[in-house]
Amino acid sequence: KDHYRVLVVGGGTGGLMVASQLMQHEDDLDIAIIEPSDKHYYQPLWTLIGGGVFPKEESERDEADFIPDGAEWIQDAVTELHPDENRVTLKGGESVGYDFLVMAAGIKLDWDAIPGVTEALHQPGNGVVSNYLYDTCEKTWEAIEAFPQGGTAIFTEPTTGVKCGGAPQKIMYLADDAFRRNGVRDGSRIAFMKAKGKLFSSPKYERTLYDVVKRKDIELNLMTELIELRADQNEAVFKNLETGEEHTEHYDMIHVVPPMIAPDFISQSPLADNEGWVDVDPGTLRHNRYENVFGLGDNSNLPTSKTGAAIRKQAPVVVDHLLAALQNRKPLNGRYTGYTSCPLVTGYGKLVLAEFDYDKNPMESFPFDQSQERYSMYALKAYGLPRMYWNGMLRGRM
Ligand code: FAD
Repeated sequence: KDHYRVLVVGGGTGGLMVASQLMQHEDDLDIAIIEPSDKHYYQPLWTLIGGGVFPKEESERDEADFIPDGAEWIQDAVTELHPDENRVTLKGGESVGYDFLVMAAGIKLDWDAIPGVTEALHQPGNGVVSNYLYDTCEKTWEAIEAFPQGGTAIFTEPTTGVKCGGAPQKIMYLADDAFRRNGVRDGSRIAFMKAKGKLFSSPKYERTLYDVVKRKDIELNLMTELIELRADQNEAVFKNLETGEEHTEHYDMIHVVPPMIAPDFISQSPLADNEGWVDVDPGTLRHNRYENVFGLGDNSNLPTSKTGAAIRKQAPVVVDHLLAALQNRKPLNGRYTGYTSCPLVTGYGKLVLAEFDYDKNPMESFPFDQSQERYSMYALKAYGLPRMYWNGMLRGRM
């Protein structure tokens, strides 16, 4: 079959949420999901896996179990988008046509932008770690456990936006806690090298994070970008983005967060804005030039923090507008306000649940001050949200 009424590119968080919600409304919909991977990952758990709380297998499920009944799974990758002809090209060379297209292909981790990282990350025992990959998130915990008394631990964040804006620092707070538990924190150094100028984007939660950084005696270096790694010498090179000066730091452990960009097949297509992202309307999530195309999640240019929680509020808007178009009626006024959420783990058993909109104003779900660190919110992240994700959100139920 080479044509579908609705074609979804990407069977990750956004693609599966939209497809399953559409099928709840129209169970005989002619829909296909293009997704190359036979596994699906609950990426938010990688922070706690890096912190030694869960084994990595907890975050992995078979993709096949989450393709909604009645939808077709095309296990392939899109290589080219041809929105003027309403079709896409697959890696295998085939062409697939559509009436409506939903873009949900996620983000590209640009490891190659920092020389020395890729090789080092995949070698054992060298202290170079990252929670941003399924295959490496357990190595973070190995490095935390092996961290020596009096050592230096560095945590980095790039100039680009990243998925889950809080993840680069959450693992730092867990590492600090673990070092204290292991009796190696005294005389040791923890440094956060962040290329942006603020600790966190929403001021209400940033205030709490500044207190956490102070309490934990963490050295905070803003406007500081990792530009090279020399793993054989345990050295990292940083650039001060204000002065342009470069300096080299020794490390015993370094948690690297790579720059993140739009996937190449999107940035090279007519669907891209000038930075490469799928160019959608921030309220309706409909493409700004192709009205039969929608985009959500990490691959979109929505000016909000890229998270799964944001997609939970984006998916119903796409579904509303798409169903309206399919049924030739007006949408039920669904508009996305930029809602995103970041569960900021500040230690084992402690969490600040940041929730805010396009203007960085809080949009909190609970009747208490969520900028305070709480055990209840940690329990929600560790035990509640994963269950909600697998059994509810991906099944189109919430
Ligand atoms: P993904 O879920 O990444 O899915 C994209 C899919 O597209 C993938 O399955 C991929 O295989 C597929 N794909 C790629 N290329 C192609 C192609 N060419 N053709 C077809 N398919 C393709 N979010 C939160 O809400 N809370 C958190 O606490 C949180 N913590 C995080 C911690 C870490 C360490 C990380 C890495 C992420 C975290 N996130 C968190 C972010 C969240 O996981 C992402 O924002 C979310 O998964 C994005 O969904 P998506 O559908 O846009 O992309």
